[in-house]
Amino acid sequence: MRALPCALFALLSAGASAATITTVPDAAVKQAIVLRDQALKDGRAYALLESLTTEIGPRLAGGVNDQKARDWAVAQFQALGYDKVWTEPVTYPKWVRRSESASLVAPFAQKLAVTALGYSPATPKGGLSAPVVLFDSLDALKAAAGADVKGKIVFVNARMKAHKDGHDYGIGSAVRSRGPAIAAELGAAAFVLRSAGTDNHRLPHTGVTQWADGGKRIPAAAVSAPDADLIAAAVRRGQPVQMKLQLDCGVEGEYTGANVIAEIRGSEKPDEVVIMGGHLDSWDLGTGAIDDGAGVAIGMAVGKLIGDLPQPPKRTIRVVAFANEEAGLFGGKAYAAAHKHEVAQHVLGSESDFGSDRIWRLSASVKPEALPAIDAMMQVLAPLGVERGSGSGNGGPDLSPIHAEGMAALSLTNDGTRYFDIHHSADDTLDKVDPEQLAQNVAVYVSWAYMAAQADGDFGSAPGAFKQGGAED
Ligand SMILES: [Zn+2]
Repeated sequence: MRALPCALFALLSAGASAATITTVPDAAVKQAIVLRDQALKDGRAYALLESLTTEIGPRLAGGVNDQKARDWAVAQFQALGYDKVWTEPVTYPKWVRRSESASLVAPFAQKLAVTALGYSPATPKGGLSAPVVLFDSLDALKAAAGADVKGKIVFVNARMKAHKDGHDYGIGSAVRSRGPAIAAELGAAAFVLRSAGTDNHRLPHTGVTQWADGGKRIPAAAVSAPDADLIAAAVRRGQPVQMKLQLDCGVEGEYTGANVIAEIRGSEKPDEVVIMGGHLDSWDLGTGAIDDGAGVAIGMAVGKLIGDLPQPPKRTIRVVAFANEEAGLFGGKAYAAAHKHEVAQHVLGSESDFGSDRIWRLSASVKPEALPAIDAMMQVLAPLGVERGSGSGNGGPDLSPIHAEGMAALSLTNDGTRYFDIHHSADDTLDKVDPEQLAQNVAVYVSWAYMAAQADGDFGSAPGAFKQGGAED
């Protein structure tokens, strides 16, 4: 006797009616295997990424390349034969970077590799010079007394280690996003962190910081890891350490960009969509190859593979190149606001935004009755080295707002071991993308997306469905 998949068995024994169970027809599984194997030999995603990083390059939201990148995306979707391509506006405060420098001035003169954080204000013209006060962690800063910090440059030297799932970014991103506001409230003159990264190159990693509405704002920047070590070594000597920081940057009004959206129209249920994509914006130091040109290229290539089938998919495949993820999920939030009334028609979604090294884990946030369809996807994905995760996924950054409205989601975890060596630094360039691993990503996305489009039954999308988290599988 063939054993029932355990999730299905559990449901049947719990008395769930077989009619509510979501499955993938055998023909769709076979077709997904063909698409998967075709994707592994397909160089389209790499060619798209080469085009984006070469012809457009850095894509700071609201910057000179913002419109150029959107024009590029519209033209590519059209050239790939998508049935419908459109844009939806996204508005946000525009932040600009003009110049930046830093140095230790006493007791040793040393130049530092520094970069301003997104939404940092400028220093006074000519820069500011102040004593450094060092903290090893965000918690240590939180516990500091105002008298120790007032008028000083707060330096937080928290380290991240490389992990396959990248979990130490929780440390680095918290220091970067919350540290400056905490230091500002304590009366600091400026804030500097050890870059939220895992490399030892002399390249700082930028990224956004968050201010409380109406709260104090101070100049905030990141130094490279070797420079963080240098500052710490100077501080260890026990004499006052003086730093000079010059940042010319800041908010310049509002900007309206757009999400670029394209569809391969479904034949039987065109109003039901399977959604994927990446964010089109990037930081300005590199060319935005791993973050997140790769995610955009993967989505574009997946739609093309499915669109080229002799029979269109039953449901619509929607690919979104999101606007301004980096400064605070503006594109993803705008998408959720514009589409939350149709959350139930967003059958299943997953954004790629963790580079393009091999995908090794799938975590599903779906209704329990849809787990048999996830089992069918796993049959196709396991030969690619994908294992089933134990947690539930939020669908990736830009789809997390609509997941919070009730869209069923998958999270596909890339191997993040080297991601934070590169992320948000000048090293985020095309040469870091491995074409073979990028093709594996396309193979994973085309497989689950096609099976979701062909599945009999849904994945549980409904208003408010995943407020308490999805099925843990
Ligand atoms: Zn990203």
